[in-house]
Amino acid sequence: MSGHYDVIVIGLGVMGSAAAYHLAKAGQRVLALEQFELDHRMGSSHGESRIIRYAYTHPLYVQMAHESFGLWRALEQASGKRLMVRTGGFDFGEPESPTLRQTRQTLEATAIPFEWLDSQEAARRFPQFKLEPHMVALYQPDAAYLAASACVIAQAELARTLGADLLFETPVVRIEPLQDRVRVYTADRVHEADKLVLTGGPWMGKLLGALDLPLPLQPTREQIVFFEPHDSALFTPERCPVFIFHSPTWFYGLPNVDGSGVKIGIHCNNEPCDPDRVNRTPDRAYIERVQAWTRQYVPLAAGKVKEARVCLYTMTPDEHFVIDRHPAYPQIVFGAGFSGHGFKFGNLIGKLLADMALGNQVSYDLNLFSLARFRQSA
Ligand SMILES: Cc1cc2nc3c(=O)[nH]c(=O)nc-3n(C[C@H](O)[C@H](O)[C@H](O)COP(=O)(O)OP(=O)(O)OC[C@H]3O[C@@H](n4cnc5c(N)ncnc54)[C@H](O)[C@@H]3O)c2cc1C
Repeated sequence: MSGHYDVIVIGLGVMGSAAAYHLAKAGQRVLALEQFELDHRMGSSHGESRIIRYAYTHPLYVQMAHESFGLWRALEQASGKRLMVRTGGFDFGEPESPTLRQTRQTLEATAIPFEWLDSQEAARRFPQFKLEPHMVALYQPDAAYLAASACVIAQAELARTLGADLLFETPVVRIEPLQDRVRVYTADRVHEADKLVLTGGPWMGKLLGALDLPLPLQPTREQIVFFEPHDSALFTPERCPVFIFHSPTWFYGLPNVDGSGVKIGIHCNNEPCDPDRVNRTPDRAYIERVQAWTRQYVPLAAGKVKEARVCLYTMTPDEHFVIDRHPAYPQIVFGAGFSGHGFKFGNLIGKLLADMALGNQVSYDLNLFSLARFRQSA
């Protein structure tokens, strides 16, 4: 048996490293356990970049984006690292696209500045993109990219500096809720704490299932492709916005970050997988599908494929997150089902989970993220 902690955090992706950071900052005795090494490639939070944006269809995400931008800036201050680079955001597609129209209405309703461009104006301002004549674009100037791996490392290092114990390559094999605390078992030790924060990413279905809380959390195998652009000057973060193509299949992309190439992928390719048994070799057919789309809509980026990678999402049926407390064990709080769009809110969600664990007031109506919604729909 190791010492007694105030809070144990399981999983050190963007959510868990943020929770450990905010808990340590609040003066808690924190133990954080991660099955792999820091910044490993097996889950959802690694790599050069993730999009952060206001352009959402639901106002709660716009509200959360507000605080998230501020928290990432504060983390840059605290870590002395550059973690967020402003690029602007370019959402485009058919004028009647339901998600593009709803995004426009939500930004109007939340007073977030944006421009609505026709294809000619879009071509003049953003020569990277080739819209069909009837297509439109929504440009939002505050969007940016987050240096994903650097964000996770900064949160973990600050948590450690603030006194947290972080154990890597230490898989949790069992969780035992007790009356007023929790016991957490690893291969050779038992740890105890008053509270538990569970942020196991694609493994959350298994972790919560073992706590008699089966939820509709589906890990999916996702892929991304990095292109050597034909015109590299056009695809630097200073010139190229992060972009999303609104259609029944969403394509998204980011500028060439640190020479990694222009990153383009399909949002939610919907290929269910078991996180412990994933084919990590990208599919030729997928790469060709993304190449064809890129040649049509971002032709100056469609050069040689530099690299392709596999990464994991955890999908919920409605693509909204699950941030809640275990109904039978209130000392256990968790964040799961980030459905391919959680990173931007990672710092904030870590803070919310820390506040929930400590019984502090949370300043958001989190009903949209409650697990009760699955019971109602069952
Ligand atoms: C290709 C791709 C592109 C994306 N693009 C964007 C984007 O542009 N913008 C955006 O906002 N979001 C994006 N996302 C989504 C975002 O990256 C995820 O929502 C986020 O990283 C989820 O973080 P997490 O901490 O929940 O999961 P993870 O990073 O997977 O962390 C969970 C951790 O728990 C650990 N763990 C699990 N079980 C155990 C155990 N038993 N014992 C110990 N440790 C355990 C795992 O090893 C892992 O490190 C993208 C995701 C992918 C895959």
